[in-house]
Amino acid sequence: MTSAASRPVPRPGILDIEAYVPGKSAAPAGVKLHKLSSNETPLGASPLAIEAYQALAGKLELYPDGSATRLREAIAARYGLDPARIICGTGSDELLQMLTKAYLGQGDEGIFTEHGFLVYRIAILAASGTPVVVKERDLTADVDAILAAVTPATKIVFLANPNNPTGTYLPFDEVKRLHAGLPPHVLLVLDAAYAEYVRRNDYAAGLELVAESENVVMTRTFSKIHGLANLRLGWLYGPAHLVDALNRIRGPFNVNGAAIEAGAVAIADEAHVAAAIAHNDRWLAWTTAELEKLGLTVTPSVGNFVLIHFPTTKGRTAKEADAFLTGRGLILRSVAAYGLPDALRMTIGSEEANRLVVAALAEFLAGAA
Ligand SMILES: *Cc1c(COP(=O)(O)O)cnc(C)c1O
Repeated sequence: MTSAASRPVPRPGILDIEAYVPGKSAAPAGVKLHKLSSNETPLGASPLAIEAYQALAGKLELYPDGSATRLREAIAARYGLDPARIICGTGSDELLQMLTKAYLGQGDEGIFTEHGFLVYRIAILAASGTPVVVKERDLTADVDAILAAVTPATKIVFLANPNNPTGTYLPFDEVKRLHAGLPPHVLLVLDAAYAEYVRRNDYAAGLELVAESENVVMTRTFSKIHGLANLRLGWLYGPAHLVDALNRIRGPFNVNGAAIEAGAVAIADEAHVAAAIAHNDRWLAWTTAELEKLGLTVTPSVGNFVLIHFPTTKGRTAKEADAFLTGRGLILRSVAAYGLPDALRMTIGSEEANRLVVAALAEFLAGAA
């Protein structure tokens, strides 16, 4: 094929991508920083994982195990899964990208919801697919609306459950209803990055559905409750045919040795995970209640973060609140790129950080009055 282009041109879709903007991490000089912008854990990583990471320092010249066997076996043991149906990735981000690379092309549609995680759009466009955005109801994924958006061109449906940045979730019955309504060739991706934090009897991350279906895959991460965001580590559990396809395009050493060693230990440290859940239970409830006492609307969250809605009156807006908090070293997340210009997302932090945010917002709202 000949082309008249005077320089190399990316495939369709690539230049439509707006690069992902991570949560801010800077405070003014001399002010203590409380980073509450990326849903990281205030408890840090498991001490055992830190030890495993440090132990690897003497072996940096060696390639890691390309199959991450030790890690897959540790994950499988924790959840009672077949390790052959697990793939690990450099963050679940890499796994989401691998899924669109394998299952989506030009002319194919990928569905996600109105306030869904922005990486889905990027992954779909990067594969030259067409993003299809479906309306939510009450800041929650709407199964009927998703099913109504399915066309013969649909190849993949992404559902973050719970969703970031809204913190809302679909009960497992609804997830099953969504799956039952999809044609068998459409892949349902259940992104359960915050599954460990959810304390609801009607929630399930999706392991059962993956086990009994040919078109469902669940992704998980070590970045959130396990506190290993800096190592970049995620995993997926899927049907054997999907695992086979992804292993053909996976980089041969896509997960580094430090992530393998630290991850294998972290997933087994159930006491550390339990401590993180207990901390979140307490401070999610406290933070939500205190913010509501200030007159702010908070979307009920089952994750380790809350979506705080601000008035649109001058002096009280989300943007002004963000600037006010940043000046005090309290870094929240603007979610305008998620179609939520009047809200900020706050990660549940340490007791100190949570109290500082509530006190600062009380001052902010009083000053604006
Ligand atoms: C944080 C997050 C992830 C995790 O991404 P990693 O690449 O594993 O760090 C995945 N999905 C959602 C919805 C998230 O919020």
